[in-house]
Amino acid sequence: MNYRKKFRVEPGAKVRLAKIDPDAPGKHASRQAAIAAAAQHIERIARLQYLLYADASQSLLVVLQGLDAAGKDGLIRHLFTGVNPQGVSVVSFKKPTERESAHDFLWRIHRRAPAKGEIVIYNRSHYEDVLVVRVHGLVPRAVWSKRYDLINDFEKTLSENGTRILKFYLHISAEEQLARFKARLDDPTRQWKISEADYAEREYWPQYVEAYEEALERTSTKHAPWFVIPSNHKWFRNLAVSQIVADTMDDMGLTLPRPRIDLAAIRSKYHAAKREQRDKGGKAES
Ligand code: AMP
Ligand code: MG
Repeated sequence: MNYRKKFRVEPGAKVRLAKIDPDAPGKHASRQAAIAAAAQHIERIARLQYLLYADASQSLLVVLQGLDAAGKDGLIRHLFTGVNPQGVSVVSFKKPTERESAHDFLWRIHRRAPAKGEIVIYNRSHYEDVLVVRVHGLVPRAVWSKRYDLINDFEKTLSENGTRILKFYLHISAEEQLARFKARLDDPTRQWKISEADYAEREYWPQYVEAYEEALERTSTKHAPWFVIPSNHKWFRNLAVSQIVADTMDDMGLTLPRPRIDLAAIRSKYHAAKREQRDKGGKAES
């Protein structure tokens, strides 16, 4: 199954989240086989990341969005097991600080974008500025409604500079969210993750769906596509996203750079040094 095709939001297409089953592919699908397949994609990502870093001419930006408990943190942990931490970073965007609020909404986002050779994962992103901000009316409609075009232009700028952009919406059902909140309540090691806001935000579910649908419709572009990932099953979410990331990196044409130095000259220097070392060693012993 090619998940990149299956879950991509085509530019300009209408999105009705109610029509996309967050429970796919259902409980009957082979969980074990999915876990094994995802492990292979994870290995490919680690191998390709090494090339991306060495090649240092392109970069990768992964944007993760979803409602509370959609699984953003869990996915990040899973996706980058095995990659060299040098060259990969995660940025979690919270409510803007006073300093961040004193700038345009893209300021804090742009400064954390990946440099050449790097992978950056945005855990929440500039999309919050057309999601939570819209749902709670934190700025007037006249302000947030202009942001879709600004976001497309911004992402185009990154793309023109060699950044591949992949955006994932982790799609869960309201029942699954409640089940995950309960699991957090029952597990002392995860109670710290619970916030009052989680239950308050649930009340706004329909408004979030509406805001997400418009964002997905207006900002899925050829250079920065959105994918709607059925995420009620963590093992399936991991499989689909890891396949899409690995396949995309495969397409980037990454290769080891040719050495910039004259290897033959360096080798003869090495042999000379080795001889010298041996001669010195011989004298010390005699
Ligand atoms: P969490 O991801 O659970 O750590 O929560 C981060 C919180 O920050 C969420 O409630 C987001 O909605 C909020 N947040 C992120 N970006 C913005 C933004 N631009 N404006 C307002 N709230 C935001
Ligand atoms: Mg939260």
